[in-house]
Amino acid sequence: MKGLRFPTLTLVAITVFMTLWSPLPARAAGLNFDKNCTSKMRGLVTDAYARTIPALKKGIAKIDSDPSAAVVVTWFGKSNNQQHITTVRANLQTMLDRLNSRTPFTIECGSRDCDDGDYAHATSGIDYLATCEAYFGQPLTGFDSRPGILLHELSHHTVDTDDITYGTASAMKLAKSNVPSAIKNADNYEYYLETFL
Ligand SMILES: [Zn+2]
Repeated sequence: MKGLRFPTLTLVAITVFMTLWSPLPARAAGLNFDKNCTSKMRGLVTDAYARTIPALKKGIAKIDSDPSAAVVVTWFGKSNNQQHITTVRANLQTMLDRLNSRTPFTIECGSRDCDDGDYAHATSGIDYLATCEAYFGQPLTGFDSRPGILLHELSHHTVDTDDITYGTASAMKLAKSNVPSAIKNADNYEYYLETFL
């Protein structure tokens, strides 16, 4: 057994060394909160934010495994070439990469720029997510959910989506009638990803 001792110790040493030196696992960008966020608001945003990365991962995996799945066609339409799906996939990946980056987001609560009935907006800067009063009454899953609204704003920041139209019926119609617009519309990304919450 003596002969095995040195190699065993060496192996242990190498394992410990590799463990200490391997890069830290990716984790979600942190959240900062402005002074208007109460602890209840912080909790509601934090719970929602935790669901954004898993939803994006599932949304990307769906496109990878079945790009003509009903859920993909419902929100991003059907086209003669599959270029539009390649674009959607790349956009989702860009959104995911931002969430996996080390740059934190600052959550603003009850921003001055909110209009009546707004859930959130993206005008304060690329590292800000500005929530409005109505945001905090929204659910954790389903359409117009708190995680989905964060993903909507994130799509404005990261892949330059527009608000061409709002609402599920209208977004669905857009996917049928105008694929290039559907894949530029923030709500289409939101509703697609809310399927995976
Ligand atoms: Zn928007």
